[in-house]
Amino acid sequence: MPTLAIIQVGERPDSNSYIRAKKNFAEKIEVKVRHIQVPENIPQADLIQIIEECNADSNIQGIIVQLPIPAHLDRDTVINTIDPKKDVDALTVDSIQKWSEGEDILSATARGVRELLNYYKIDLHDKKVTVVGRSELVGKPIATMCKNEGAVVTVCHSKTVDLGAETKPADIIICAVGKPELIRAEYVREGQIIVDVGINEIFDESLENESKNGLKAESNKEIANDPMRRKLVGDVDFESVKNIVAAITPVPGGVGQMTVLALFENLADICSSK
Ligand code: NAD
Repeated sequence: MPTLAIIQVGERPDSNSYIRAKKNFAEKIEVKVRHIQVPENIPQADLIQIIEECNADSNIQGIIVQLPIPAHLDRDTVINTIDPKKDVDALTVDSIQKWSEGEDILSATARGVRELLNYYKIDLHDKKVTVVGRSELVGKPIATMCKNEGAVVTVCHSKTVDLGAETKPADIIICAVGKPELIRAEYVREGQIIVDVGINEIFDESLENESKNGLKAESNKEIANDPMRRKLVGDVDFESVKNIVAAITPVPGGVGQMTVLALFENLADICSSK
């Protein structure tokens, strides 16, 4: 049975839920997960030692450091300590070099998006794709994957002056920004395919009354932090866009699940290439 090591620094609630999803999926497909949780203030040298121990452990086939990690740790140094042969999230310099050249091990998000488009027989070749967001972890690998599949790719970022001018001509818009409901009706047109990678937790007024029952005067902070009044949304305003475009992925229940699947596909590829 293959083993995936997941190293978690601290206990961010979003990381907890991503790790829970990975563990649940692993259980279904009989992959062992070794969840190594370390304190938020761990010195970098100690974290590196833990990764090196996982590198040397022949019972472990894949290693993930759950991102983001606290600011006192240098992300690149930490990630590049992972043995590229066990880099299941394809984020080391070595892996990036390989997927930039078109090899199949991809960052899990990019692979998840590719699988999703493949499943719906949406061919990227010669399509105009606009990727909104250019982070190293998400936007960049997705844009590279699309280029490798033969798409004509435009990448937008926080300094893009006229976002609509870049999104409207596209056949496919892929959003990975982290800004709730940034892409609204005026940014899209009929016939487009929208892939929403963003996962954002927001305060939901419609849940307010349900949660308020029984509670007395609360501060704004208490209200904003009440988990009963929070919900997940993507980077796209689903309701305003869904009746215009040809297809759109929901949040939750869209790319997030594909990312988990893709991670284990990467693990399977690593195991079978041995
Ligand atoms: P990030 O903050 O590192 O990067 C955000 C990117 O968006 C940057 O390149 C920035 O230039 C760009 N941006 C910011 N404001 C913009 C604007 N107004 N217009 C255009 N571009 C803008 O975030 P990230 O780590 O890349 O994550 C992006 C989103 O993807 C988040 O919501 C995150 O939760 C989600 N995510 C989802 C999955 C999944 O499996 N679905 C996996 C990882 C991350």
